[in-house]
Amino acid sequence: MTELRVPGDKSISHRALLLAALAGGESRIRGILTGEDPRATASILGELGVRVPPLVADAELRITGVGVRGLRAPDRILDCANSGTTARLMLGVLAGQELEATLTGDESLRRRPMRRVTDPLSRMGARFEPLSAPGRLPLRVTGGPLCFLDYRLPVASAQLKSALLLAGVTGGVPVELVEPGRSRDHTERMLAAAGCALASSREGVANRVHLTASPSALDPVDLVVPGDFSSAAFPVALALLGGAGEGIVLRGVGLNPTRTGLLPVLDRMNARIEVHERSVPERGEPTGDLVIHPSDLTGTEVRPGEIPGLIDEVPVLAVLAARARGTTRITGAEELRVKESDRLGALAANLTSLGVEVEELPDGLVIEGTGRPLSGAVEARGDHRIAMAFGVLGALAGNAINVDAPAAVDVSYPGFWEMLERASRPAARPPVGDSGEDDLEPARPFRERGRGPVIVIDGPAGSGKSTTAREVARRLGFRHLDSGALYRALTCALLESGRPPESWPALTESDLNAHPVRMVAAGSAFRTMLGARPLTTELRSPEVDAHVSAVARLPAVRGWLLDRQRQAGEEGSLVGDGRDLGTVVFPEAEVKVFLVADVAERARRRLLQKGREPDSGSEVSAEVDRLSSRDHIDATRGIAPLKKAADAFEVDGTRLSFAEQVEAILRVVRARVGDRDARDLDFQGMIDA
Ligand code: C5P
Repeated sequence: MTELRVPGDKSISHRALLLAALAGGESRIRGILTGEDPRATASILGELGVRVPPLVADAELRITGVGVRGLRAPDRILDCANSGTTARLMLGVLAGQELEATLTGDESLRRRPMRRVTDPLSRMGARFEPLSAPGRLPLRVTGGPLCFLDYRLPVASAQLKSALLLAGVTGGVPVELVEPGRSRDHTERMLAAAGCALASSREGVANRVHLTASPSALDPVDLVVPGDFSSAAFPVALALLGGAGEGIVLRGVGLNPTRTGLLPVLDRMNARIEVHERSVPERGEPTGDLVIHPSDLTGTEVRPGEIPGLIDEVPVLAVLAARARGTTRITGAEELRVKESDRLGALAANLTSLGVEVEELPDGLVIEGTGRPLSGAVEARGDHRIAMAFGVLGALAGNAINVDAPAAVDVSYPGFWEMLERASRPAARPPVGDSGEDDLEPARPFRERGRGPVIVIDGPAGSGKSTTAREVARRLGFRHLDSGALYRALTCALLESGRPPESWPALTESDLNAHPVRMVAAGSAFRTMLGARPLTTELRSPEVDAHVSAVARLPAVRGWLLDRQRQAGEEGSLVGDGRDLGTVVFPEAEVKVFLVADVAERARRRLLQKGREPDSGSEVSAEVDRLSSRDHIDATRGIAPLKKAADAFEVDGTRLSFAEQVEAILRVVRARVGDRDARDLDFQGMIDA
């Protein structure tokens, strides 16, 4: 089983920073989340006169507090970036300070409602002036002496509750709150640990919290931040769906009962999850290890009362539901419409576009599970949890999903894509659930007897090599290497670097090292990354199309990418496509195919692939020109030209459908590997297998 740790809890990290700033001495925090959200909190505290060292993973953070009313008026506008927690909690902290400050955020945060927080804070005596739209950031805050608040929250919201409690602390006044359900209680736990007098009690489903007194300087924070349960939910989902081989062990996950509402829901869905090494300290946060096994999930009903305990986990739950047997119904989640994105809208639209049946309700979703291979593009709307939920779905065998905003994950889970790469296995289990009326068979793993063959498919531009190779790989349970994507990624990097194309021929291999193009194995594919950012749609832009062949003919480029491609083939069980894989990169490949098609037919397919109806002759001939020019450069360059290897088998796809082209190649594979090895390959759907 793969062992992992997830980054520190986001909610606790924010609160630890804030309470350390308000403390009367030196705080020590270990395991803090270094994501963009807590960085926003840290940098605002810096503007307010608290010295916060840079947040570094695995290092102890030491902060000397300034006392509850010791913050200094900032010189600049305070930017909360994408972080709703920073904005709301900071409003509470600033309410009790006798100073004026302006808070703003990125475009998504400026759309999110703040009135829910500013209304009760105004009752306490703070003043808020919206500088653009009513009830939205940017807001000018004037803090000052506050009075006691007795307030019934309209929704169970930890951010609202925490903002009001923090105002009570900075204003030095009691606060009595009733929330309609029990939201996460990290603030209460941490304030109690810092010396505040605080009582909580349940009134049916409602929760009463009473801050009776707080000291003028909080006790310093001394804390190990537990792993974030909301981040853990993604590897949990990957393992449950069979995307991580035998399963995953997650160490040191925070198990605060106000956060783990997903666990009972997963239990109803038939998930096999065990909790080990549970520790429940008297003060502070319970933690434990989660052991997650691949499971055949079934649909369930998630009721409104369960939502506060799993509010952040709805995106990943929706993805699990899409792969479970039967129907899952989630209601009472209207709050999700005002998160980093309208999450209900984003989930419904993206699942639908991938081919999952979804009904969008005003306050929830009804999702029909399917075992069908899912493919397509996902618009994450800049939302980290949407990007990660679909990242998990895309890492499962048989699925091919492009997430458009992969960098969004840095908000809460730096290293998410690397985690997926580490945890997912090429021979992942086939998806569970019914397989519908697919014409495509679900992927099956290669029954390993040592190493599977390396299969290469070379050919001219637009012959459909990549999609065909991806499907052949899926059918065999092999990994797919799209070598063209590497040349494209380097072209993207060069275009982004702003270096003029005329200077590219002078590039050396060490110049190329400055462009961190790399491939990471992610499930059944290699993801092409630029640093920590996976490249997707940008690889096929017209600018890249226009420049890639010029980049690919540079000797430094070919030398630089050669080792990277060979490494991908080291473990065998690979289907690669390109121009020189059979001649230069893998001259020993067991199976070589040269895939050709008439250039007009290739142009027609290319246009269709770009979503255009190739009915106008001039559009087709412009595409013919583009393809021919690339082929010409590729075939006439001095180094590794596009050429059929002597031992390659030529397949002409001009008159073949996609499915026939795949079958034709699988037949070549079977003929080449011989009967004995062929028995070990899973030729599903082979007409004569
Ligand atoms: O296959 P695709 O069209 O994505 O490849 C883009 C370009 O990358 C090709 O036109 C070619 O110039 C270059 N390439 C190459 N050798 C490979 C794969 C691609 O030169 N093995």
